[in-house]
Amino acid sequence: MAIRHDQGIVLRGYPFGDADRVVVLLSPNHGKLRTVAKGVRKTTSRFGGRLEPFTHVDLVLYEGKNLDTITQVSTIEAFPRLRSDLDRVVAAGIMVEAADAVAQEDESSLRLFLLLQRGLRALEAGALGNDLITSFLLKLATVVGVAPALEACAACGRSQDLVSFSFASGGVLCGGCRGERGVRLRAGLTAYLAGLEKADLGALPVTDPALSADAIGVARRFLEYHLDRTLASLAVLE
Ligand SMILES: [Zn+2]
Repeated sequence: MAIRHDQGIVLRGYPFGDADRVVVLLSPNHGKLRTVAKGVRKTTSRFGGRLEPFTHVDLVLYEGKNLDTITQVSTIEAFPRLRSDLDRVVAAGIMVEAADAVAQEDESSLRLFLLLQRGLRALEAGALGNDLITSFLLKLATVVGVAPALEACAACGRSQDLVSFSFASGGVLCGGCRGERGVRLRAGLTAYLAGLEKADLGALPVTDPALSADAIGVARRFLEYHLDRTLASLAVLE
């Protein structure tokens, strides 16, 4: 059996056997990693709090037949400010759940990893709110190859008169293509979504309270439609 190094952001963990814990991480090079931390449920665990969700850690792993065992952990980035604020913890939980939903095992996931890292860093630096989550979800859709059409009609490519949004058609539709498809959008919402999709997570445009709630609803439903699953942590924002 071999020893190897890896790194990742902790997505979640769950009890395993009497004293162990499975820790699921997102690695930039190997996608979703399932590892075992032995003895972590004893009070004297040598890993301390380093395997809590959101922590970016460097790992030394002992390769096993099914799961690799963590033999050493060191913290690369801990996000302490994020952790001290419940609203930030909720937002980070949404980002982590969405990344977990799309990550694959044994597959390079550098873009997804960097997106999650940027999202957590934005929260750590003080950003918060629906628009941050909306922007993150739209970027996630792009990373996994299901980016919604936001600036041109998903059916004909026109960039004017974009009045509705169709989850099945993959984005906005113009007045001519709309027909029976799609939900009507509040004026300005498509441009607002496009702005959030393109913006830097650490420097989002000024929030428009009239559009912000609709925007996160559209981003969430779009992603859930294309992933064919619900994102439970987003329900708390409703
Ligand atoms: Zn059209």
